[in-house]
Amino acid sequence: MKKRTFEILFSLLFGLALLAALWQTASRNRTPVTESSGFHPVMGTLAQVTVVAPDQRIAQICIKTAFETMAQINQSMNDRDPKSELSELSRTAFGKEAPVSPDLFAVLCASQEYSRLSGGAFDITVGPEVALWRQMEKTGIRPTPEQLEDARAKVGYEKMILNLQSQTVQLAKEGMKLDLGGIAKGFAVDLAIEAIRQKGALGGMVDIGGNIRCFGRPPAPAKDWIIGLQNPQAETVLKRIKLNDFSIATSGDYRRYAESEGKKYSHILNPATGDSANELISVTILAPTAMEADALSTAVSVMGKQRGLALIDSLDEAEALLITADRPDELIQTSRAADFLID
Ligand code: AMP
Ligand code: MG
Repeated sequence: MKKRTFEILFSLLFGLALLAALWQTASRNRTPVTESSGFHPVMGTLAQVTVVAPDQRIAQICIKTAFETMAQINQSMNDRDPKSELSELSRTAFGKEAPVSPDLFAVLCASQEYSRLSGGAFDITVGPEVALWRQMEKTGIRPTPEQLEDARAKVGYEKMILNLQSQTVQLAKEGMKLDLGGIAKGFAVDLAIEAIRQKGALGGMVDIGGNIRCFGRPPAPAKDWIIGLQNPQAETVLKRIKLNDFSIATSGDYRRYAESEGKKYSHILNPATGDSANELISVTILAPTAMEADALSTAVSVMGKQRGLALIDSLDEAEALLITADRPDELIQTSRAADFLID
C-alpha cells in the first residue's frame, strides 16, 4: 500500500473511532428521565409505577408492561372473579389433582411455606372464613358460632395438597376456597419490577396498595428511594423510609374493616378461629421481595406483637415496624429496622 493511501485510511479510521467514542460518551451522559404512572385501580386497590429510564420512550414502555403484568396476575389469582384460574381451582380440585399454571403453582408453594413458617397464621385456605367476614361487611351482622364452625372445618393449609412433580393441586375437603389476597399483590409487584428491568429501566418502583418494591437508580437528585409510612390514625406520614433494591408492605385494619354494633373487625382473620386479628393496627415488613413482605405482614398481623416480633427476628433479612391497638402512638421495631428510617 502506498504511504499516501495508508495515511488517508488511517485518518478515516481514527475519525470514525473518535466519533464512536464521542457518541458513546454523549449517550452515557444523557440525564435519565423519570416517569410516573399516577395511581390506577389494580387488584381491588390502587397501583402506581415509577420508572427511571434512559429516555421517555423506554420509560413509557416499562410502565405499560408493568400494568400488563399486574393485570395478568389479577386475571389468574383474583378470588372474586369466578372466571379466574384460582376460582376454577377452588371449584374443581376437591378430591382430584388439578393442573395449574407455573405462576399460580409458585404462589401456592410459597404460601404453604409461609403457613409453616408462621405456624398456620398465614393461610390461603382461609376463603370460607373470609366469605363470612364479607357477609358481615355487607350486613353488619356477625356470623353465628355454627357458621364459623362450619367454615373452620374447611380451613387448613395442610388440606391443600401440592404435587411438585406433576405441578397439580388437590383440595382434601369439599367446600374449600383459596384466597390469595394476602400474597398475590406482592407477587405481582415482584413480576412487574422484573418486567421493567427487562425493558431497560435503570431504576423503578412498583406500588400496589402499599406493597412496594424498588430497584436501581432513584429519581435524581435522591440517593435512595423514599417511602412514607402512613400514620394509621390520620392521613399523615408517620416515618420516612429509605429503600434500595428492597421491598416493604403494610397490613392493617385502618383502611379495610367491617363494622358490627359499633365495633370494627379487621379483614385479616385468624384461620384457627375465624375471628378478626385485633392486637395490631398496623404491621409493616421490610424484606428482599414484595411477596415475602406481603405474606409476612399478613402473618404478623395474626400472630400479634410477641410472636410476630419473634418470627421476624428469626429471619436474617426481614425487619418489622408495628403499632398496637393499645398504644397507637408507639412504633415498635425489630433490631435493624432503624437502618431504614430517615427521621
Ligand atoms: P393483606 O392486606 O396483605 O394483609 O391481606 C389481607 C387479605 O388476605 C384479606 O383481605 C383476605 O383476603 C386474606 N386473608 C385474611 N386473613 C388471612 C390469613 N390469615 N392468611 C392469609 N390470607 C388472609
Ligand atoms: Mg399481605
